[in-house]
Amino acid sequence: MTTPTPPADDSVASNFIRNIIDEDRRLEKWGGRVETRFPPEPNGYLHYGHAKSICLNFGLAQAYGGACHLRFDDTNPAKEDQEYVDAIIEAVQWLGFEWGEHLYFASDYFDKMYAMAEHLIMAGKAYVDSLSADEIRAYRGTLSAPGQDSPYRNRSVAENLELFERMRAGEFADGAHVLRARIDMASPNINLRDPILYRIRHAHHHRTGDRWCIYPMYTFAHPIEDAIEDITHSVCTLEFEDQRPFYDWLLDNLAEGGFFPRPVPRQIEFARLNLSYVVLSKRKLIQLVDEKHVAGWDDPRLPTLVGARRRGFTPEGFRRFTERIGVSKSDAWIDMSVLEDCMREHLNEAAERRVAVLDPIKLIITNYPEGQSERCHAPNHPLHPELGKREMPFSRELWIEREDFMETPVKGYHRLYPGNMARLRYGYVVKCTGCEKDADGNITAVLCEYMPDSKSGTPGADNYKVKGNLHWVSVAHAYATEVRLYDRLFAHPNPGARREGDAEGLERSFLDDINPNSLRTLQAQLEPALRAAKPEERFQFERHGYFVADRIDSQDGAPVFNRTVTLRDTWKR
Ligand code: ATP
Ligand code: MG
Repeated sequence: MTTPTPPADDSVASNFIRNIIDEDRRLEKWGGRVETRFPPEPNGYLHYGHAKSICLNFGLAQAYGGACHLRFDDTNPAKEDQEYVDAIIEAVQWLGFEWGEHLYFASDYFDKMYAMAEHLIMAGKAYVDSLSADEIRAYRGTLSAPGQDSPYRNRSVAENLELFERMRAGEFADGAHVLRARIDMASPNINLRDPILYRIRHAHHHRTGDRWCIYPMYTFAHPIEDAIEDITHSVCTLEFEDQRPFYDWLLDNLAEGGFFPRPVPRQIEFARLNLSYVVLSKRKLIQLVDEKHVAGWDDPRLPTLVGARRRGFTPEGFRRFTERIGVSKSDAWIDMSVLEDCMREHLNEAAERRVAVLDPIKLIITNYPEGQSERCHAPNHPLHPELGKREMPFSRELWIEREDFMETPVKGYHRLYPGNMARLRYGYVVKCTGCEKDADGNITAVLCEYMPDSKSGTPGADNYKVKGNLHWVSVAHAYATEVRLYDRLFAHPNPGARREGDAEGLERSFLDDINPNSLRTLQAQLEPALRAAKPEERFQFERHGYFVADRIDSQDGAPVFNRTVTLRDTWKR
């Protein structure tokens, strides 16, 4: 696992892609223009990996004063849906990026793509093949053995044109024919052994309805989409590196045919994001949701962007993360703590402080008058005094954390135990006098006396030197609500991977590595100001971490909270 060194300045980090673009601009390719795109297939929700691609593509466009397109690569009718289109639009907007007029759908280009396929046929660069899928696979050869020409490879242009037209007209069943490029069945690059361009698929498309029954393959459609939109730098993940020769072959032939001006778009590959303790594959995410291992696409434990948003992760944190991990050509695993650190850094700046008692036990101040209360004042943000202070009511009975009292203290324990003094933060110094227990011996309340001259912010406050500093909430004023704490969704850094000591042939599933204790729901006592928290408002709960008011389950005046991240890294336990 690698944790890259942060670049000196997050905003101007150089990388190999920027170097390529700088060189292209120096040579005045595309007149110095930079136009990128983020091209999701609308067949699932976006995940943390997509955030890297989004920040990278939109970030490059911003850095060079260009545009980045949001393009839906909706060429496969089977798994695509408007629900996903809407969710993707919302996620990219949430990350803080704008595409202006540049919102595109590959399906809008189906007519143009068809015309380009016809052109390739006429130029002798494509043919209709009538082998079955299995036969095509068998004829393709292997990495070590060349492929074999299909018996249909030398059909005449006229015959190909006619068959292709009849494919489009719906005369054939799925799988009866395909359109293939005519390149080289002996090429050492398997992707150049006459790749399939079109297949018959009698399926309803979420945008074009039943207008088409042939659909372009991704490898054919994608370069054309880029070229139609005048993309300059087509940035994609490494698995497409072997496809680049075909990308170039196709656009070169179409430029030759007058469809596009030169230079055509340039494909550049980078290593995809791999993150420990999560899975970043749509297939696996769909399985987690469908099989109800999580509560839905926006479950805060899921590495989707809707989940991240509910968790309280911030767009700024994702952008910072993308800068920090940089882009490279070699696959690396990034530790989840790197992402969490980026969130912490932003939240430390952005989140106001509040007090919450997550595991409450009552503290009774026996020498404080019953029925009386007074105000204490707590700063909203230690780094931003201009954000002022808020009032916290103080009274005879307070909630404190159960762990802040020990009847018999362990060595080095400075909080409450009989005879010891500690400060109630923003309030008074108290001296513990004992505790109350029920018939079973369980502690039901902690008892103490307060020092009336010790109030924080008054001259007497400094008279007491104490080591413990506890947070508290007045029982009479507290806001009791649900708080959710999350742990890793998986108990292993690389879910489903083989590990040392595994028997030979043992197959692990990523599902076997699900952490059964990834969600803990508490009934907590919060300071009264938190009643007014708006959905998605973020806070640091002192000592407990960063929290967000849940955007779905919060009611007006009755928010519930999710922990975004702890104050320090607890993943390296
Ligand atoms: P699938 O392979 O199932 O289609 P996908 O994650 O590649 O899933 P796309 O919708 O094709 O889904 O992805 C859109 C863009 O996001 C692509 O350009 C892809 O390269 C990029 N992307 C996907 N996963 C990652 C990742 N883990 N890291 C960086 N970029 C990614
Ligand atoms: Mg993909």
